[in-house]
This record gives sequence, C-alpha cells and structure tokens, in this order.
Amino acid sequence: MQINYPRLLADLRHLAKFGQVGTGVHRLSFTPEDREARHWLLQRMTEAGLDAQIDGIGNVYGQSKGVAKAVLIGSHTDSVPKGGWLDGAMGVLYGLEIARARLEAGAQTDLGIDVISFADEEGTYRALAGSLSFCGHLSEADFEAATNQHGKTLRAALSEAGYAGRQRVTLDPSRHVAYLEGHIEQGPRLETEGKKIGVVTGIVGIRRLQVTCTGQADHAGTTPMLLRKDAGSALIKYCHNLMQRFAQVRSANSVWNFGHVAFEPGASNVVPSTAHVLVEFRDPSEATLDRMQAEIQAAAATANGRGGVGVQATELMRVSPAEMDAKLAAMIEVAARGRGAPTLRMPSGAGHDAMVLTRHVPTAMLFIPSIGGRSHDIAEDSDEADICLGIDVLAGTVRALNPTA
Ligand SMILES: [Zn+2]
Repeated sequence: MQINYPRLLADLRHLAKFGQVGTGVHRLSFTPEDREARHWLLQRMTEAGLDAQIDGIGNVYGQSKGVAKAVLIGSHTDSVPKGGWLDGAMGVLYGLEIARARLEAGAQTDLGIDVISFADEEGTYRALAGSLSFCGHLSEADFEAATNQHGKTLRAALSEAGYAGRQRVTLDPSRHVAYLEGHIEQGPRLETEGKKIGVVTGIVGIRRLQVTCTGQADHAGTTPMLLRKDAGSALIKYCHNLMQRFAQVRSANSVWNFGHVAFEPGASNVVPSTAHVLVEFRDPSEATLDRMQAEIQAAAATANGRGGVGVQATELMRVSPAEMDAKLAAMIEVAARGRGAPTLRMPSGAGHDAMVLTRHVPTAMLFIPSIGGRSHDIAEDSDEADICLGIDVLAGTVRALNPTA
C-alpha cells in the first residue's frame, strides 16, 4: 500500500476551492458550496472503487466492495464561518487516499477501508448531526428541533439539497472493526512542545451553566449605595469568586470561559434588576467536571441573599468526556515512532465526530501540529510535511490492524 502524497495534497487544495475565502473556507452545511464539495467527494470515492452515496442526513459514505470487515476512516467537510481549509477535510481525504492506495495495491486484503464525511459536524443546524445519525443517536425530536441561526430547519435544508427522504447509513458493528480520525490539533501544544503526532487519549466533557442574579431596579442617581439590590455588582463579584474557586479544583487540562453577559434593563442610570452570564468549562475527567460544578453551586449558595440579591446557577448543557480506545492509541504511537515522529499523548479540547463513534466501536484519533495553534479562522494552516507524516502514521496503524495490508 503506497500513499501518493502529491495526490493527497492536490485533493486537499482542490477541496479548499469550494467556498474558498482567502486562505480558508466558508463552507457551512448544506449551502451550495458544501453540496458541491460533497458531490466532488462522492465522485472521488467512486473512482477509488468504493460503493459511494450521499445519505439522508448528508453523510458522504464510501464502502469497500467485497469485504466483510473494514476500518472506517473519516471526519467532516463542512466548516465554521470563515474557517480553515484543513479542519475536518484532512481526516476525510486521509481516508480517501488510504482507500485508493489499498485499491492500487490490488485490494488483496480481507480488511476494507470505508470512508465517511459526517454532515454538519460544526453545528450550523445541529452539531455532530451526521455522526449522531450514523450511530443512531439523532432522535426524531432532535432532528425536528434543529435549525440554523436564521430559523431555517435542518429538514428544509436537507430537502433543498435533495437529500431528504434518502435512507440514512448507519454503523455496522459486524463490519466496522475500528474508527480512525486524523485531524489538525487546532491548538498550540504540539508545536510548543516540539512534537509531531498527538495521540488523543480522550475528548473533553463540556458543561454549560447560566448564573442569574436577581435584585431590584432603582434610580442609579438617588438610591444610596448601601440600600441597592444591585444584581450587576453581585454578578461581577460572583464571577471573580468563581475564577478563584476554579483555580483550586482544576486539573492541568481544565479550561473555562464566560460567554454572553447581560444586565437588565441595561441602562447606565438604572440599578440592574437582573444579571446573567453563561459559564462553560471543559475537562477530560467527569470527576473534575463534577468538582468544578460543585464550586459553581457553592459560590451561588454563598452569594445568595447577600445585598438583597438572589443568586442561582442552572445547568443548560452537559456533554460527557469520551475516552479513546487505549489499544488503538498505542498502535498509533508505535506507528509514529516507527517513522521517527515524536508523539504527545493529549486530550482533545475540541469536540469531534470520534466522541460519538467511540461509544460503539474502538475509536482513535491522531493530531498533527497547527501552525501557531490557529484554527476556526482562515489563518489555520499546517506544514505539508506534517500532513504527509500524519497519513503515514494513520496508514501504519491500518497496516498494524491487518498485517496483510
Ligand atoms: Zn473538525
């Protein structure tokens, strides 16, 4: 099995033309650019000897013919607004190139390569819609509720694209022996630490809460400071306190962020009657997430009632951490070392389709360095040598899964 690097790079450059914006891409799910990219990919899969289709949720899926078992390799080809050219695209084209290499080698192996581009990973309508559908986790209610920020439904987008009513492909546990996803790191760790291949140990869990302070609106000029029930000041103090508490219980991998903040009524001459903020935090360990959430609640309990202001924290969203398969991760490590590539075991701070797949099939991910750690921006880029090293390591992992490959 011989990887054709110039062909892989040429395909990556070609795919980047769909929705091209400067050095990046603007390829939101089910827009004409995204559909053209899917159609192009469908043709490449067919040429690679795969049985290929675009299914009822927009997944582009190509199956190796004449085999009972296959490794599934993929990622996504949709992008965030004005995103990078490699985010997702690289993992899909890794699969395509490995499938082609297998075909050119005579396909005399029992283990096939199935390739997939999961629809709407970036969540224009519903984050991870394609992989959730593939694994049977996209409920009818979820599907019906999915809309983009302009209120257009996923259903309408699929029907406009011509995908509505098609059957949806699903994971076949008797066929798929593993899922492998190659991806850019989207952060600075590999580059900073001088490593070439990130061996992903797991994908962080995410919790999102809203903290609400309830006070009383009053004239901001005539009400003495001590008599105010100032929801705004209470929120600021709360956030400051929370950051100190988080610092006490965090792990080395914990991160947190404050999102939308609002004071109501929001006029500078009115004491805020209510104030709220979104808090989101991530960690690869559920226990650490629990500890951080306990601090949110404890900080709220302590602040509640002070200065006549009520403080409450409500959970809005929870995504569990997802562990990758340890055996497969070790195989990636061995394949990387065999190519002299320094590796780093690391969690992924970003969500990926692999977090859905890992609940059903042995799953592993590898990262290659992102230049300057940049991603979700047109500035996103990686060295061609690293892109080629990444597919080498992935192909090496496939070979290790089937020594006759
Ligand atoms: Zn991605």
